[in-house]
Amino acid sequence: MASGPTVLMRLVASAYSIAQKAGVIVRRVIAEGDLGIVEKTCATDLQTRADRLVQMSICSSLVRKFPKLTIIGEEDLPPEDVDQELIEDGQWEEILKKPCPAQYLAIKEEDLVVWVDPLDGTKEYTEGLLDNVTVLIGIAYKGKAIAGIINQPYYNYQNDEKQTLRELSEEAEAGPDAVLGRTIWAVLGLGAFGFQLKEAPAGKHIVTTTRSHGSQLVMDCVQAMEPDAVLRVGGAGNKIIQLIEGKASAYVFASPGCKKWDTCAPEVVLHAVGALSLQAS
Ligand code: AMP
Ligand code: MG
Ligand code: MG
Repeated sequence: MASGPTVLMRLVASAYSIAQKAGVIVRRVIAEGDLGIVEKTCATDLQTRADRLVQMSICSSLVRKFPKLTIIGEEDLPPEDVDQELIEDGQWEEILKKPCPAQYLAIKEEDLVVWVDPLDGTKEYTEGLLDNVTVLIGIAYKGKAIAGIINQPYYNYQNDEKQTLRELSEEAEAGPDAVLGRTIWAVLGLGAFGFQLKEAPAGKHIVTTTRSHGSQLVMDCVQAMEPDAVLRVGGAGNKIIQLIEGKASAYVFASPGCKKWDTCAPEVVLHAVGALSLQAS
């Protein structure tokens, strides 16, 4: 009997489309100009209207299609009816054409946990450092990160004074050929897609680390690595993208603060390109 794509590949294909919609929402909030900023625990721990809308969009879209999943989102939101306009029903067909790795063929929906960071790099988002921002959807099985989707809504964003943010956002939503934004995805045992893998410059030790959650310990650890250069940028997703695109050779953050919604999707992308195992060997 012919069987269709597995639960895992259907989930990844749906999460890809959902992450793309999330990117549209992130850009729309900027274009509308009302960020609705709320302080959570402190002045560097923020939530915006985009964090809230994107979490509602991702979680509600996923639960409609996959009601037995466990979904954990970063934001603590009151239960409320979600606007139909926030629901994404699509699935990325290219992903459905790929084979599911043999070790995941028998996974059931209820076996999977999805970690959602609706907007990673919120502090930078509020400061207009828009290319630091990512949307992270990580999928875990038996406590291990096995698939991840990263949308970067402002990939290719140039702070061009001739073009307003509103103009950029309208262009990005014009259609599938939009130049702004991209989605990276990975499944362990299958590979990582949506970017060009590049190695960091040979012989150079370039460390990337936090720009808004630094401490003496973090800086001491960075210095102990005797780096040739230190990049201080926002977002866990953004820093992992710097690693896979050869802009940095190590990501150092010796501090509590990153949570599983920050690390699940990025960890899969790193494992899928062999970066973590290289580091460990
Ligand atoms: P950063 O490298 O500072 O952009 O942090 C990466 C991710 O971890 C972001 O989602 C931050 O919100 C989160 N994070 C790191 N440190 C902290 C902290 N001290 N308090 C709250 N969130 C943090
Ligand atoms: Mg985050
Ligand atoms: Mg976040």
